[in-house]
Amino acid sequence: MRGEQGECVGDRVAVIYVGQIVEQGSLRDIVRSPAHPYAKGLLASTIHGAKRGQRLETIPGTPPSLGEKPHNCSFAPRCAMTQPRCLEQLPAKVEVGPGRAARCVLAEQAFAR
Ligand code: SF4
Repeated sequence: MRGEQGECVGDRVAVIYVGQIVEQGSLRDIVRSPAHPYAKGLLASTIHGAKRGQRLETIPGTPPSLGEKPHNCSFAPRCAMTQPRCLEQLPAKVEVGPGRAARCVLAEQAFAR
């Protein structure tokens, strides 16, 4: 994955939003089933995420300033899945599979032990 804020090193990918890794894992796993809403949005906005003849999706809103140090999920203002908890604290980094991790309340709820 390359693009807005995705960085590709070998087959490992780190999806970065506002200077923070929000998901990491193998390129294959993330493209097949992204765990973080921002990674999902990025993939939906590429030609790989759209069917021929359809408009590419966009992620509504704009990223916050890089100078801001959010105390909560910095993607929350743009996320369709935002919950009250997302606004209260920075989501923890959670293992979502072998060699995969995401920083999202949804991942915490689904995978935290
Ligand atoms: S922590 Fe909440 S607001 Fe942030 S990406 Fe996950 S669901 Fe969306």
